[in-house]
Amino acid sequence: MGKLPAFQFYPGDWVRDSISGCTLAAQGLWLRMILLMHDSDRYGYLSVNGSPIPPESIARRCGCTLEQYESLLAELETNGAPSRTPEGIIFSRRMVRDAQEREEWRALAVQILEDPQQIPTSWRAIRELILHRDLNLCGYCGAFADTVDHILPKSRGGNNHPKNLIAACRHCNYSKNDRTPEEVGYVFMKEEHG
Ligand SMILES: [Zn+2]
Repeated sequence: MGKLPAFQFYPGDWVRDSISGCTLAAQGLWLRMILLMHDSDRYGYLSVNGSPIPPESIARRCGCTLEQYESLLAELETNGAPSRTPEGIIFSRRMVRDAQEREEWRALAVQILEDPQQIPTSWRAIRELILHRDLNLCGYCGAFADTVDHILPKSRGGNNHPKNLIAACRHCNYSKNDRTPEEVGYVFMKEEHG
């Protein structure tokens, strides 16, 4: 999976969760740890090459001393925010679950879109599937995408075939308008669309 430029944040959950009973310092650390987990090679885990990231390294990257890190982490663990694998890798249950769901939706969307018998006729349904297939990442710039672009514009004869559709951020989609990617100078982030 490519690097995601953004992730879902659930303010309601944060406020309801036991995390909000932690000190602000501990909450701040958890937020910084989440940012590291977001950039991790294994999404949602503080791992590097299958092993836990050393505490010194986490502390440094979160901007605190090892002592601060250990005491705030103990507070977070008492409140049940982080989980650990048997190997001791710290992870966020929420992020891991979200990543699994994204992958499941993506697999399902790919399967449906590759089967001509199953491709829906309604634009809404196709659009939804394309966004899942492309993980809501703009195929032109990699930003968060919530629109779907016709690579060859409809006004130029482009159809609703999945191969002619790509998730696009609003900026790329609206700036492209009824031109082809080549005409606007867009480059595809993934070869499969080229
Ligand atoms: Zn874009």
